[in-house]
Amino acid sequence: MKEAEGYSFLFFFVGPNVLSELKKAGKLVGSLDELVIHAAGVYTNERIVLLTTSRHDENVLSEFKAIYEVTPRQLDVLRVERGNLKSLIDELKRLLVLGYNKALLCSPDLMLSSKDVEDLFLEVVGVRRGFSFINALDVLQDVVGIRKKPSKPLSFEVKRILPCIADSTKLRVIAEINASLERVLPYLYLHFKSSKYLEPLGVLTFTTTRDEMISMYSSGKVCVVKVESESRAKEILSELLRLISKAHDLASKRGQPNEEELKARRELNIMSVYRLLPKTNCGACGEQNCMAFAAKLLSGEAKLSMCRPLMEQPRFKEAREKLNAVLSSPLE
Ligand code: SF4
Repeated sequence: MKEAEGYSFLFFFVGPNVLSELKKAGKLVGSLDELVIHAAGVYTNERIVLLTTSRHDENVLSEFKAIYEVTPRQLDVLRVERGNLKSLIDELKRLLVLGYNKALLCSPDLMLSSKDVEDLFLEVVGVRRGFSFINALDVLQDVVGIRKKPSKPLSFEVKRILPCIADSTKLRVIAEINASLERVLPYLYLHFKSSKYLEPLGVLTFTTTRDEMISMYSSGKVCVVKVESESRAKEILSELLRLISKAHDLASKRGQPNEEELKARRELNIMSVYRLLPKTNCGACGEQNCMAFAAKLLSGEAKLSMCRPLMEQPRFKEAREKLNAVLSSPLE
C-alpha cells in the first residue's frame, strides 16, 4: 500500500461494488463482517476503526469486536451521521489524532466512489504528494497479498495470549505457522465440513466441538478464540499442523482440489445431509432426530455408521454412498 508522506491511513473501501466485482470474478465473499475478521487478523499491530451509519450495525460490529479483536483496543466502532461527509471528515481527523490508522467503512452509504474517497483522504490528511488512490478491489487484493511463498509447514509459534473478551474465563491465542497456508486451505476446507472458506481473502474459519473458534489465514497466522488454556490451544495447533502437513503433501502430489470437489463441498450443509438420511427420527444413533444427527455429522461429532437403518437397509444404498462421498475427507 502506498502511503501519503508522513501518514499511513488506509481506507478499507469495501461494499456492494467490491462484493459484486468479486462475485463477477467468480470469487465467493460472505459478509462485510467476514472482511472485518480478516482485517483484524492481518493488521494485528494496528488500530482499525469500523465506521457505520446504522445503530443496528453498530451493535453487531461491537459484538464482533469483542470476539475477533486480536490485540487490545485494536478495533473500535463508530457511528457517523448518514450522508454527512463533513461529519465523517471530522471523525476521521479525530481518529487520526487518536492513533487510528485504518478505517473500515461498514455501511453501504459510506461506500463512496473512488474519487470521493480520494477527496476525503486529501481533506483529512491535507497532502497529495506521493499518494495514489487505488480502487477498492486492489485494496482487498493488497490485504490478501500478504502471503509468503508456500513451503512445507514445520512448526508453530505462539505469538500472543490474551484474555477472551467474549468469555472472561477463556483465552485468545494467536499463533504463527512457519509457512504459507495458501495451498493447503482448500484441502482444510474439504476436511472441516462445518468450516467457512473465504477464498478471495484466504481465510478459513470454523468452530470446534468444544466451541473454540479457529481462524486460519493464508499468511500462516492462526487465531484460537474462546479456548480454556494455552495447553489446549497448543493441542489444537498440533492437530492442525498434522493436517496441514498432510494437505501440503497432497497439494504437492495432485495440485489444488478440482472445481467439482469444491462445488460439492460448498453445497454441503445440514439440509443436504438431512435429505439423504432415512428421516424416520428413530433415535438409534443416539440423537433425538435425523436433523440433529445431520448437524453432528457435519461438526465431526458423529459417524455415519451410527445410523443403523442407513447402513443396514438396502433401500438406502444410494443415499449411503452419496453421504460417504460427501462426508469423506481427503486428509484421512
Ligand atoms: S438412526 Fe438414522 S434414521 Fe434414526 S434418528 Fe438417527 S439419523 Fe435418523
